[in-house]
Amino acid sequence: MSALFQNYARRPFAIVEGKGTEVFDTTGKRYLDFTSGIAVCSLGHANPAIVEAIQQQSKKLWHISNLFESPGQEQLAAGLVKDLHLSYAFFCNSGAEANEAAIKLARKHTGKHKIIVFEQSFHGRTFGAMSATGQDKVRNGFGPLVSEFITLPFNDATALKAAADSETAAIMLEMIQGEGGVNAVSDEFAQAIHDIQQTTDILVIADEVQTGIGRTGTRFAFEQTVIKPNIVSMAKGLGGGFPIGGILGTEELFNTFNAGTHGTTFGGNPLAVSVAQTVIDHIFNDEFLQSVKQKSEYFINKLKEAFPDKNYTVQGKGLMLGLGLGGEDVAPYVAALDEAGLLTVAAGPKVIRLLPPLTVSEQEIDEAINILKGVLQADKITSP
Ligand SMILES: *Cc1c(COP(=O)(O)O)cnc(C)c1O
Repeated sequence: MSALFQNYARRPFAIVEGKGTEVFDTTGKRYLDFTSGIAVCSLGHANPAIVEAIQQQSKKLWHISNLFESPGQEQLAAGLVKDLHLSYAFFCNSGAEANEAAIKLARKHTGKHKIIVFEQSFHGRTFGAMSATGQDKVRNGFGPLVSEFITLPFNDATALKAAADSETAAIMLEMIQGEGGVNAVSDEFAQAIHDIQQTTDILVIADEVQTGIGRTGTRFAFEQTVIKPNIVSMAKGLGGGFPIGGILGTEELFNTFNAGTHGTTFGGNPLAVSVAQTVIDHIFNDEFLQSVKQKSEYFINKLKEAFPDKNYTVQGKGLMLGLGLGGEDVAPYVAALDEAGLLTVAAGPKVIRLLPPLTVSEQEIDEAINILKGVLQADKITSP
């Protein structure tokens, strides 16, 4: 008997230890973790620099209210916006909270309420973020949603141009839909968003909760497009496993979030910020980002080599990759991969998502490829 709500379809084993890309369950069985806690532990498990940061900060100060100045937040904010067109940061504790802040900021700044969002998007589980999410399975059963979210097909520039009007506060999107199936924004669609930005005052909110902090080979995924978002939300990879989220915004938004308009008790506390600082010190560096791109190329080539059949599709960017199985449901394969020692996560029903730590080695990628080959080419997959 479990005293937990059964709101997760948990896998039938518990991971109790990890180092780098490897994790171990209660029986001592070893797995390669190609989930990274869903794009969270980007520097690997028990990274010594992060362990050190937590230890040092935990002896000094864990928490102090946002009523006081925060040198740690100042430094982290400056590091996150450096060399970008963005100017200011606000810190919270999760992706959903970051998106709430983004939605509130966009509405208050524009004085408008309509926000265009997309089918198969995922923005989180709070009311605003849930209302922005383009998936019925996330929204059903919870009663009236926050109003004025308009859901359009993703990557449909014609539909977007028709819907973006003078009532529109913002367009909110993921640069690569994560939960929705590892679907990247197309060049044409990015261009359409760019054009709307040039000709209207509609804001663009990039939900980089999953794609941000080096996951796709650049600091943020929007840097690989022509889109210059007014607001960027982030979380998952930012704390390397310690909960922290936040938004970045452009100069023009500064006066909208003035004193008393928005806040959080825990957001950006010194412990969280010390970890996030360590994370970006490692990741926001050309050499590191270059290594992510190299590993990505290596991984993509190996996947294409291992699965040459055109039924297989390799999607995504950087180390946020998806392997589609020609429309077949992936759930039994994900379970079989667990069994074989490779942890992966489904992206929608049809795609296996591969999110190794950004510190993964080529040898570990080779090992993962061998496990994938063994499992996906086995004739018989036993359902869990
Ligand atoms: C995970 C995710 C969220 C929600 O983040 P939480 O920390 O679970 O609230 C929002 N947007 C995207 C794109 C995500 O991948």
